[in-house]
Amino acid sequence: MVGSGPNGLAAAATLARAGVSVTVLEASDQIGGGTRSSEGILPGLLHDECAASHPMAVGSPLLSDLGLDAYGLEWRLPDIDCVHPLDDGQAGVLHRSVAETAAGLGVDGRRWSRLFDKPAASYDVLQEDILGPLLRFPSHPIKLARFGLPTTLPASVLARFFRSDPAKALFGGVAAHAFQPLTRPLSSAIGLGILTAGHRNGWAVAAGGSQAITTAMAACLTDHGGTIETGVRVSSPAQLPPADVTIYDLAPAGISEILGDQLPRRTGKAYQRFRYGPGAFKVDFAVEGGVPWTAHAARQAGTVHLGGSFAEIVATERQVSLGQMPERPFVLVGQQYLADPGRSVGDVHPLYTYAHVPNGYTGDATEAIVAQIERFAPGFRDRIVGLQTRTTPDFAAYNTNYVGGDILTGAKTIPQLVFGPRRTLHPYDVGLPGQFICSAATPPGPGAHGMCGAHAAKRALGYLERL
Ligand SMILES: Cc1cc2nc3c(=O)[nH]c(=O)nc-3n(C[C@H](O)[C@H](O)[C@H](O)COP(=O)(O)OP(=O)(O)OC[C@H]3O[C@@H](n4cnc5c(N)ncnc54)[C@H](O)[C@@H]3O)c2cc1C
Repeated sequence: MVGSGPNGLAAAATLARAGVSVTVLEASDQIGGGTRSSEGILPGLLHDECAASHPMAVGSPLLSDLGLDAYGLEWRLPDIDCVHPLDDGQAGVLHRSVAETAAGLGVDGRRWSRLFDKPAASYDVLQEDILGPLLRFPSHPIKLARFGLPTTLPASVLARFFRSDPAKALFGGVAAHAFQPLTRPLSSAIGLGILTAGHRNGWAVAAGGSQAITTAMAACLTDHGGTIETGVRVSSPAQLPPADVTIYDLAPAGISEILGDQLPRRTGKAYQRFRYGPGAFKVDFAVEGGVPWTAHAARQAGTVHLGGSFAEIVATERQVSLGQMPERPFVLVGQQYLADPGRSVGDVHPLYTYAHVPNGYTGDATEAIVAQIERFAPGFRDRIVGLQTRTTPDFAAYNTNYVGGDILTGAKTIPQLVFGPRRTLHPYDVGLPGQFICSAATPPGPGAHGMCGAHAAKRALGYLERL
């Protein structure tokens, strides 16, 4: 296994449990890829370096199957999942319960219920299809069709289903997690998936930081005889030990770098053509006394979306996709410490933020992020006692999967969302015997749910059985 992100470790643990002898080679000194956590500003103040909240991971069939609670993984839920404040003081408030969310959305309450009641109630069976390769016969076609029809719409069209600004903006802020223009077909899909999963499981955070997810996976792996070597950056096949199967937890660019001319021509071309999406500029803050949000619900929310009205989000997401830096970018704020207070030091709290910026953006977005928070929480600036930043080049250096700072490992265009990096019915095959890809570039895409790894491991096990 090359790479120890959540998908790499999910695949490695799945194979080890099936009796396969597994070695994981990880470039960084620390395992976990996009789930690492650290204390970079003050000792004891714990920041998630990448992934923060986990509505898709908390109910993931793979994570449950690995029995990660026995390896120390505990989930914690904030009182309120997500808040989207507006300039006029109104806010869209997302609760785990569909009914409670609908009750706060006034004229749009019934519409919110119509959209999410049934999918959320059947999410446990629906996720077999949502969290699988999209191109196969679904296990639950009717339920999937009911959920799937709205996902085909551009978010800008689906938003017209709502009448009020808070409901439109609440939906738009979650749809913006796809990092793509909200006017594109299928741009509702990722948002609807996150909202439905959240209404079933909540926007959980991992106790002790997201690192706890992959620490538990690694414990499961080593318990079944697997080994992990850190500080090994694989750049050529010569560095790989002899193996029946090699799985890459890498972006297509990383696999091309290692396998070069050995890749079949079609795969090589497809991996070259693979497109990367906009980037993220991240700022972690140490904040004394928390954020003085004007919208009181935001003071209890695990996640706060700052992007203004739905129309404003449409405009800024379009700009970043065109390579332009908006004056007021979409900013995601994480307050994981509210559900997991052990991450704070006394009254100083770790605040997690990132802005959507153009791919490869080299400017400094710190002030733009502070200004967006001040817009909805006047006085925030005076409470900052420390900060650390990560630019798009920093992200690419931190993890080569984040090309140009693209934290989703590839643009979520229709072909890439449906097929992964190349047009094939077997998205986990690299096209060489015994070589597979399992990163978030493959279906079902980004997140710490480990499902790309689970599907790649299944494919690899099938190959091993035929040897
Ligand atoms: C800022 C940020 C915020 C995010 N927020 C969320 C969130 O809130 N919720 C959520 O679910 N997801 C979130 N994500 C996305 C999530 O972190 C990723 O989708 C997930 O980590 C992908 O897992 P992976 O296993 O595919 O790859 P990665 O996590 O990218 O891991 C790949 C691993 O491979 C290693 N590697 C790379 N090249 C080599 C090489 N040549 N040799 C050896 N090792 C190599 C890397 O060091 C890394 O450890 C976020 C990501 C970022 C960066």
